[in-house]
Amino acid sequence: MPDGKAASPERVVIVGSGFAGFTCARKLCRILASAERDTEVVLVSPEDYMLYTPLLPDVAGGLIDPRFVTISLADALPRVRLMVGRAESIDLANKTLEVTSNHGPERELSWARLVLTPGSVTRLFDVPGLAEHARGLKTVAEALYLREQLLRQLELSEYEDDPEVRRARRTVVVVGASYAGTELIAQLRALADDYADRRGLDRSEIKFLLLDTAERVMPEVGDQLSDKVLEVLRERGIDIRLETSLKELTDRQVVLTDDSVVPAYTVAWVTGVTGAPVLSTLNLPMEKGRLVVDEQLQVAKHPEVFAGGDAAAVPDLTKPGTITPPTAQHATRQGKVLARNVAASLGIGRAVPYKHRDMGLVVDLGPGFAVANPMGLRLSGFPAKVVTRAYHTFAVPRAVNRWAISLAYATNAVTPRPLSLLGLVSPEEASFDRSERIPKKE
Ligand SMILES: Cc1cc2nc3c(=O)[nH]c(=O)nc-3n(C[C@H](O)[C@H](O)[C@H](O)COP(=O)(O)OP(=O)(O)OC[C@H]3O[C@@H](n4cnc5c(N)ncnc54)[C@H](O)[C@@H]3O)c2cc1C
Repeated sequence: MPDGKAASPERVVIVGSGFAGFTCARKLCRILASAERDTEVVLVSPEDYMLYTPLLPDVAGGLIDPRFVTISLADALPRVRLMVGRAESIDLANKTLEVTSNHGPERELSWARLVLTPGSVTRLFDVPGLAEHARGLKTVAEALYLREQLLRQLELSEYEDDPEVRRARRTVVVVGASYAGTELIAQLRALADDYADRRGLDRSEIKFLLLDTAERVMPEVGDQLSDKVLEVLRERGIDIRLETSLKELTDRQVVLTDDSVVPAYTVAWVTGVTGAPVLSTLNLPMEKGRLVVDEQLQVAKHPEVFAGGDAAAVPDLTKPGTITPPTAQHATRQGKVLARNVAASLGIGRAVPYKHRDMGLVVDLGPGFAVANPMGLRLSGFPAKVVTRAYHTFAVPRAVNRWAISLAYATNAVTPRPLSLLGLVSPEEASFDRSERIPKKE
């Protein structure tokens, strides 16, 4: 692969293969092909797949196989040159970037246009023990680990003599009651219920605790649906403590901000995100941990540099004075605008501003229940479940993955979830520094 400096003067390098980078690469290739330009499009990504993150709670709950939520870049983007590695440092003056990989030598790559779409990582707070003992939900490793950790602890609890330790093994704490944390706890509860039913255990012996500093669960769906979610989760035996968070963690217990102590071996931290670490190496203006761009997704004073998705603070033209929230819905649409505007900067077509009115959320909350507010319509229960599953199945950008996901849902309608423990991910592999590359604090 021609990765040296003497490359085509029209090389476009895209950093990150998530919703924004993947969509940008796909659309840009189409635009370039129809303009009959041989501009090279290079996609730099640590993984050779695009991860459909909204279904990670289903992976953690053992409903969907992790392969089904990963879209092979080689299959989906045949015209793109894929460089599997991580953009480590970016030299804006010389228009180069360093790419490192665990599997090969470091490379320097030159670019004529740079598209920064490295997404986000879990936002960690200064809570003692958090980085060591909690795990996030942004990667396949983290989702798989949470499933295996829950099953392993349940299995170990069955021949544990010490009642305190048994209780800790049978307790799961999830911090963060916005949609991702709430979906996660609903799926883990369903997995634990399946386990209890098949192993003759009382479901109520397995405790789930959901914490958030906010006054409501999932405030993003509005008060009415939020109340409904609270009611349903409580009916399932999930202990929800609002205006409460973690003060401290050890390997066997958590201390809450109200000073109560809860013995627990499994803690998930799903409280929000901040821009990918590589962004802070750029010395460019940031807002809320995201790179500041204008409405055409360009970086000020660097007209050849573009950014979008969770990595970028994009002005929300539908709500002046705010930036677009970090969602797949925005990242995908920003990917399309990135492609158009990069092409325009190369003399193909005209640049457009990014403007998209939020279409609402769909949130799958385990067996028989979901909430959704598409176009302001408030849905819960079975109708929301149908909309949610149909939306995600349709939104996954490859037919073979859609097929596999539909089959998994169909299988789950008639059989309980598989409980086998494959032991694929170690606690270290799922840690924030290894799986999300969040630098450890000294
Ligand atoms: C559990 C969960 C559920 C969610 N559910 C929903 C939902 O239902 N609806 C919704 O709209 N949104 C949802 N989101 C949010 C959504 O996933 C994000 O907003 C979306 O993924 C952002 O897309 P992106 O392309 O900006 O970043 P990402 O999809 O995160 O992709 C970024 C990519 O860049 C790569 N990368 C990072 N650093 C580098 C580097 N230095 N060099 C090269 N590559 C790099 C990463 O490995 C990754 O592949 C959910 C998120 C989570 C975690």
